[in-house]
Amino acid sequence: MKTNPADFTRREFLKTTAAAAVATTIGPAILPRTAQAATNPADKMIGIQIGAVSFLDEGTEQVLDILQERGAVNTLFVAAFTYGRGIAGRQVPGQPLPDHGKQEYDLNFHGGNFATPHARFYERTSLKQTKAPDHGDYDVLADVLPKAHRRGMKVYAWYEDNFGKDVPGVDQLRETELSGRRANTLCPLHPDYREFLIGLTKDYCESYELDGVMWCSERQGPLLNAIGSKGDPRRVTCFCEWHQKAARARGIDVQRAREGYEKLAAFLTAAREGRRPNDGYFVEFWRLLLDYPELIAWEKLWTDGKHAIYGDIYRAAKKSRPGVQAGFHIWHVNSFSPFFRAEQNYSEFAKTADFLKIVVYNNCGGPRYASYLDNMATGILGDLPKEEVWRVNNNWLGYGDEAPLDKLPTAGLSSDYVFRETKRAVADVQGKCKIYPGIDIDVPTEAGQKKTSPEDVYAATTGGLKGGADGILFSRKYSEMKLANLAAGGKAAREFPGI
Ligand SMILES: [Zn+2]
Repeated sequence: MKTNPADFTRREFLKTTAAAAVATTIGPAILPRTAQAATNPADKMIGIQIGAVSFLDEGTEQVLDILQERGAVNTLFVAAFTYGRGIAGRQVPGQPLPDHGKQEYDLNFHGGNFATPHARFYERTSLKQTKAPDHGDYDVLADVLPKAHRRGMKVYAWYEDNFGKDVPGVDQLRETELSGRRANTLCPLHPDYREFLIGLTKDYCESYELDGVMWCSERQGPLLNAIGSKGDPRRVTCFCEWHQKAARARGIDVQRAREGYEKLAAFLTAAREGRRPNDGYFVEFWRLLLDYPELIAWEKLWTDGKHAIYGDIYRAAKKSRPGVQAGFHIWHVNSFSPFFRAEQNYSEFAKTADFLKIVVYNNCGGPRYASYLDNMATGILGDLPKEEVWRVNNNWLGYGDEAPLDKLPTAGLSSDYVFRETKRAVADVQGKCKIYPGIDIDVPTEAGQKKTSPEDVYAATTGGLKGGADGILFSRKYSEMKLANLAAGGKAAREFPGI
């Protein structure tokens, strides 16, 4: 059957995926390298996110063998810069270790730049010393690039907006909370921070023969942080001098904005304690927006700063290495919050992106979505029973057939969600940039919550490809993936052209 993937309807997708799942037993899918080269869909990017520790623990050539043979992987997204262990380091402590790699936790994980920072790229920033101390002088890009290229595999450096507290020079770049405290996060409007990211991008692109870069910032503005989480609403950011200056340039009254956010914080604190305003939660919230339009203005100001960095990185990459692909990881909150989704304008992003990795982790998506709904039900949507919040949100997001609220944490989201979200993204960008859905392979969840099975990965990978994706990206990191689950993704990728 020859079918244009973009033409798949939802009904066809559900039918063919179910049939394939029944007809297939998912084994280790080890093929000789010549065979896999022939069956790999040449025009589709089959990527995997992987950190330095995996190459050191298991041997670079051995890991590449596994990724090619089991996962049909043709592109590596190497976690090159982060202080977080979501994408680097071994399995998160407390979660079961997978069936490969060193069978112990790296409790002394530190993070930083897992390649080599070259000083000339950091002359315009105070962040000069970011080399990760975890593996001595080991440079993951220098090690992996030639070995991967010899096999015809591509290598992307991927890096994220996640900084440690003890990075030399980082203090002055921190954001300022509404409370006046310095936050751990860095200010997207601080010129020094922007210069660091431009320098880092140039360093990667000029010092290494990279095929691409991907930047990730899992953050949102103060309004969405206040209403979407149960965190302290006075700890939202950013109210630093750079933000104040940018606000004034837009004609935003800084004092009024601060006052509005203080009132919002008081309202949300009372709402979390179940103290309903006399006129109701939603009316009170809307009244705040009317009285303080600065609430939305500051949210937009912050978000524009975050997205301006996308432009910085894209231009720096393109200038440094012709042909390099530059793209962005789109945070999972995009799948839960219609407010955040409204800020993720894919067609706008496509102006400064060769690709977007949209996070559609369906297994952990269940518990994460349930948690978001719970936050909303005890905040601005507190007038509605939780079941109604779930129903309304499902309709806003187009999740009609997902698991019922009480089953979400154990059932996860479906592969149909992967299909629909991919299709929506492909339609939004209209060919102006590539869409790579991020596929959930063993992203950690709490005990008793949905865990990944090979059938899940097979269906999600197929869902993304049938949704018209230009490739898929196995996530979050190889060091937390079980090999049978990775193999199921590889099997789906290999079988796709024949569907
Ligand atoms: Zn700031």
